[in-house]
Amino acid sequence: MKIICVGRNYAAHIAELDSERPKDPVLFLKPDSAIILKNNPFVIPEFSQDIHYEVELLVKINKIGKHIDQKFAHKYYDEIGLGIDFTARDLQNKLKDKGLPWEKSKAFDGSALIGNFLPKTEFLSVDAISFSLERNGEVVQQGNSSLMLWKIDALIEYISKYFTLKIGDIIFTGTPSGVGKVFPNDSLKGFIEGKEQFSVKVK
Ligand code: ZN
Repeated sequence: MKIICVGRNYAAHIAELDSERPKDPVLFLKPDSAIILKNNPFVIPEFSQDIHYEVELLVKINKIGKHIDQKFAHKYYDEIGLGIDFTARDLQNKLKDKGLPWEKSKAFDGSALIGNFLPKTEFLSVDAISFSLERNGEVVQQGNSSLMLWKIDALIEYISKYFTLKIGDIIFTGTPSGVGKVFPNDSLKGFIEGKEQFSVKVK
């Protein structure tokens, strides 16, 4: 399986990082070796002094597809989840400055936390799902899929022009504003519509 991530999909997050609003979705990939195994902590890697959490809604692909039209995209997923795209921000900024690929800062071992998935039928609309992240009991990020610059079905159309989507692939749909640094012993908990979907310790 592969993980396809979307960058710069919420206006407020683009503003907080002083990034440019893209004309097209920004995409990057994480390998399956990035996934944190169940119940394991997130371990801060030695190559970064500035690891950020980015809470994101996830979409799990249930059918193989390429060149999927937006109006059929809903047939390619049944479940929505929540996760964290851990980012070595210091390294990412260096790579960005040099115009180099982001993988070392975004796709390293442990950079993908994948929480529970919920059937999409639990939601009135996948384009109005609220989610949040708590760090040590304090809400640090709050988002709603209605604020995505590219909604889930539009992302699937765009992504599948470049990458064949396969069963089990997971899309990280971008983070809302409020990203910040993690510290040893932090506890991070993610919520969809107020219900806990993951809990992870930082080491
Ligand atoms: Zn992200």
